[in-house]
Amino acid sequence: MKIISINAGSSSLKFTLFELPERTTIASGTFEKIGLEDSFYTIKYNGEKIRKEASIPTHTEAVDTLMKELLDMNIVSSLDEIEGVGHRIVHGGSEFTESVVLNDDVVKRISAYNEYAPLHNPANLLGVEAFRKALPNAIQVGVFDTSFHQSMDEIHYLYPVPYEWYEKYGVRRYGFHGTSHKYVYNEIKKFLGKDNLKAITCHIGNGGSVTAIDSGKVIETSMGFTPLAGLMMGTRSGDIDPSILEFICNKKGITIGEATNELNKKSGLLGVSGVSSDSRDIEDAIASGNERAKLAQDIYASKVANYIAMYNNMLDGADVIVFTAGLGENSKDMREAIVSRIHSLGVTLDLDANNMRGEFKCVSSKDSKIPVYVVPTNEELMIALDTYDLKNK
Ligand code: ADP
Repeated sequence: MKIISINAGSSSLKFTLFELPERTTIASGTFEKIGLEDSFYTIKYNGEKIRKEASIPTHTEAVDTLMKELLDMNIVSSLDEIEGVGHRIVHGGSEFTESVVLNDDVVKRISAYNEYAPLHNPANLLGVEAFRKALPNAIQVGVFDTSFHQSMDEIHYLYPVPYEWYEKYGVRRYGFHGTSHKYVYNEIKKFLGKDNLKAITCHIGNGGSVTAIDSGKVIETSMGFTPLAGLMMGTRSGDIDPSILEFICNKKGITIGEATNELNKKSGLLGVSGVSSDSRDIEDAIASGNERAKLAQDIYASKVANYIAMYNNMLDGADVIVFTAGLGENSKDMREAIVSRIHSLGVTLDLDANNMRGEFKCVSSKDSKIPVYVVPTNEELMIALDTYDLKNK
């Protein structure tokens, strides 16, 4: 069965077409700069990649163009072959605890959470609207970044603020990257063959979050009410003293919105190093003796290490630590910098095993008290698998 997995952003749309249950990727691609003058798209199929410029004023044209290309390139012989469309949706509040079949009523309920994720949810829903028109016979499924984390208990999701903020306005920890944490947890659980596995999953890419999971239930995750919380990230600050906001607004004469934008876009690795948000640039700068780049990497590693230590405590001892996403999968230096800061847990790397990129692999030494694995994530596949499951229900 062919299932397409969709991630619609405000000016982009990414897709991956899968054959399930075989888990084969048939084709993938992106539509970029939607609504701008120089919009274009790329499609990968059969080992080749095409790139075309086209007028793509809205998501509807992106989806129509994609449907036409799927037919013209003989990727499908009829659009009816695509039996399911899985949509990444960033925020489902505390209401959507699992993936859901999308109909008018559900879409309306999801849009109630737009104000929690104003940059993402409305764009995700534009993708939904376009695909409901283009593929009316396919099942449309919403897969939320927040769902997996809704198994958290109150003690872990409530902030110690006036209770009314939670009751009236929904101020609580929601958590994000749930699709990725769930995927790598399921993969490592299958591999280790342990159902009641206690894992600490570290998704560290441009954005980053750490999650403590016990027997498939999230105990706690480092992102919060928004994806700005928790770890230091590529351009995001992660947790800081909230009083800094008012102080810096007064000092710089800027609004809270402007200051929050600096916390989202000008902080993290970029803010501290002054070099880049990309850890490859940071590693190059460190190699050429840039001290602030080294400082940025050290702060980053220290934040991740401290979350691992805290979550190991919450889990009363983890069975496994997992690294995933851009940095977790590819940066041996960052893995080393993190693990060197959790020696108190008796965790050590095998430096030879760690000297690799992008493989599913155990990278800890034989005598490490907790094994450390790299597990490549695949959020697109997770979205397609949930869609497949709901189609077959
Ligand atoms: P996103 O959160 O946008 O999905 P990714 O998970 O793709 O991001 O992670 C992107 C980050 O991964 C880049 O910013 C880069 O810092 C890091 N990265 C990717 N490849 C490497 C590499 N070979 N070495 C070090 N860092 C890498």
